[in-house]
Parts: sequence; C-alpha cells; structure tokens
Amino acid sequence: MKTPSPEACSKPSTGELPDRDLLTSCVHCGFCLEVCPTFKLTGDENNSPRGRLRLWRQEAEGKLEPDSWTDFYTAECVGCLACETACPANVPYGRIFEHVRHDHVAGGRAKPTTVVRIAATLIKSPRLMNLVTLPLRVLRRTGLLKHRLMFSGAPAVLKSTSDYAAELVRNHRPTGPTVMLQTGCLMEAMFREINFATVRVLIEHNVRVLVPQNQPCCGAFIEHSGLPGLEQLRQQHPDVYMGHSIDAVLTNSSGCGYSLAKSIGDRVPVRDVLSFLSELPLRTKPKVSSDTVVYVDQPCHMIHGMKTGGIPSRVLDATGYNWKFAPHATDCCGSGGTYNIEKPENSKEILKRKSAFLNDLKERQVILATANHVCMMQWSSARAMGLVNRDYQVRHVIQLLDPSTTLK
Ligand code: SF4
Ligand code: SF4
Repeated sequence: MKTPSPEACSKPSTGELPDRDLLTSCVHCGFCLEVCPTFKLTGDENNSPRGRLRLWRQEAEGKLEPDSWTDFYTAECVGCLACETACPANVPYGRIFEHVRHDHVAGGRAKPTTVVRIAATLIKSPRLMNLVTLPLRVLRRTGLLKHRLMFSGAPAVLKSTSDYAAELVRNHRPTGPTVMLQTGCLMEAMFREINFATVRVLIEHNVRVLVPQNQPCCGAFIEHSGLPGLEQLRQQHPDVYMGHSIDAVLTNSSGCGYSLAKSIGDRVPVRDVLSFLSELPLRTKPKVSSDTVVYVDQPCHMIHGMKTGGIPSRVLDATGYNWKFAPHATDCCGSGGTYNIEKPENSKEILKRKSAFLNDLKERQVILATANHVCMMQWSSARAMGLVNRDYQVRHVIQLLDPSTTLK
C-alpha cells in the first residue's frame, strides 16, 4: 500500500464532523483490528478501525489539524463493516465513516475519480443509464466486452426485468407471498441476466414478483463515493416501494439492499432474496456431476450490513451442486463499492490473499459463487490480474437455482 506525501496540503473540513458521542463510543479494546483487511495487510494502527476513529475524534476535538495523513487513512478504508460486527461496544463505524467521507469530499480533501463522478451522475437517471449502457449490454452478450471486472453472462438487451417479471407472473399466476424486487442500477444495466434468474426462481417458488420500472438508485454508490445527492435519492424510495400490499422488498445484492434498508427498512422489510427463499419449501435441483465444485464466498454487506448470517446452507444444498465455503469466506474480498476502482492496488492485495486457494484446486470445473454483483466483478478480476492461473466461472448463487430450462 502506498503512503501519502507528507507535503500534501489538506483542505479544511466542512465543519460537519460526526456527533462527538459517536466518536467517543470507542473503548479502544482492539477487538476490531484482526478483522480489518487494511490492518491485516499493513499492521499499521492508523490503518485500523480504532486508529481511524482516533484520528477523526482528535480532529473533532480540535487536538489535530485537518491533515493529509487523516485523509489518506480515511480513503484506505474498504467500508466492509467487519469492524462493526467485531465491536463489543457497538460503535456505529459505518455511520461515522459515511459522515467523514462525505465531509472530506465536500471539503475537497478527497477527490473521487472521473469514472466514479460520471457513474454517480448516470445513476441519478435510470432511463439515461439504461440507454447509455445499451451498447455495453450488446457487447457483453456477444462476449466482446473485455474488462478485468466483467464476468461472463448474456443479459437481455432491450427487455427490462420489470417487463419480464410482468410477463412471467401473467403466465404462471403465483399465489404465494408478494414481493417487490429491487433491480439495482449496475445490476439492471449490465448484469440483467441475474435479475431475470431471480424472477424465475421466485416464481418457481410460487412468489408473486412485482418489479417497479426505472427504480431510483438505492444510494450505495453515493455512500461509497462520498459525493452529494444521497438524500434526494432516499426521498424517492417511499413512493416506489411503499403503499403496496407486499410481504417484503427483496434484493439480490446485499450492498444495495443494505443501503435501501437504511432508507425505508423501518417501514417495510428489505430482505436478501436468498434468506427469503431459505424460509420457503425449497425445490431441490437434480444432483450435478461431482466434477464441478462450487466454492461459496460471503458478501460483507450481507453479513455485517444486513446481518443475515450469510448465504444459507439450505439454499446452497438446493442447488444440487457439490459445494464448500471458500477459505476465508467471511473475509472482505476488497471490492468495497467503488474501492476496486479508486484503490485498485489495495483491492488487488486484499483479493490476492483470498483467491490464492483457487490455484491449488484439483477439480476440473470450479465455480466461485457469491451473492453480490460487485463481489462477482472482483472475483472475476483475480484471473484477469494474474492472481489466479486456472479457469473458473463466477456466478451468483441465485443462478445456480435457476429453472431457466423448465420455466418460460
Ligand atoms: S470498514 Fe473494514 S476496512 Fe474499514 S476500518 Fe472497518 S474493518 Fe477496516
Ligand atoms: S472493537 Fe469497537 S470499541 Fe474496540 S477498538 Fe474497535 S471500534 Fe473501538
């Protein structure tokens, strides 16, 4: 990991530092250190949750001038929230971090990259996002889109998940629970085949799926980037997801679900689709050849954000695959929202430790399965960046349950 230039001049804070009570809730026990990917990589106290909290507190108390080292260590955080789960004092690290990050961007102390700024503009208009990404969907569908973060898949180019779900509900008339599916900005724009598979799996399990058109972004991308506009997005959520007779809003991406839950979770249940399915009578798929082994990785925001306990074993058993949890399955993979774009070197180092096991596998066919498209992109990059030297597929767990050949 790079260290900051001591000459770098830091800009003043906007003066909107987190509530002092939040900052003083840390009792300095250090239980969070061993779960923090940036501390594990560097052994640097300042690059740990406790260290960052101390820097922010000292600044809030006027004991430390706004400083380039504080900016640097703030930007190093992946935002995985493993420290929140480990903390016996219930320090709301994520809330504090979100606040500081927005403060740093607003005050010019942190500068999101141009790619992140363009993406943050696009996600504010689902229609524009859909239009701009149309050629990319075509390229991905034809296998011509080559990028380290792109895993293979064939998204529908024109038909939206909303139209697809309406068609399938009309054809199959499910009579079980009614849910709304959150489609996600990037997921719907680039990885729509996962949304389609989600709809099929739910309908096969007699769940009535409603999918609002042109859903506003959940806000996760804005949270991660520190850019403005979060409140404007959150104000749109009640109109879209509330006032309907539904059992839950479901997400197939825990980062998006966690962000939406912060917006409307006190009024309507926001749930991960795999957790929701695990409570239904599950249809088990036929046994798949033992030549293929699925290694399962757990998304941080599913465990530490939505606090679901992770991908349920019952759902994994129902896929019919021979599956195992990947080594260090609950450690962060280094994707962290925009972290693998803004801090590619750190992100690669974190992934290197987690992905090394793939090189030692003897199985002929390996699938790396997880439950968040950003983690899928990160796992895809392990091969492209030379960390892994064998072939493997990257899949969402919902795709392993997909009845695509029997349900049209
Ligand atoms: S959010 Fe993750 S990377 Fe950041 S301090 Fe906590 S454990 Fe470390
Ligand atoms: S575990 Fe919680 S209380 Fe202990 S040092 Fe970390 S943030 Fe502070």
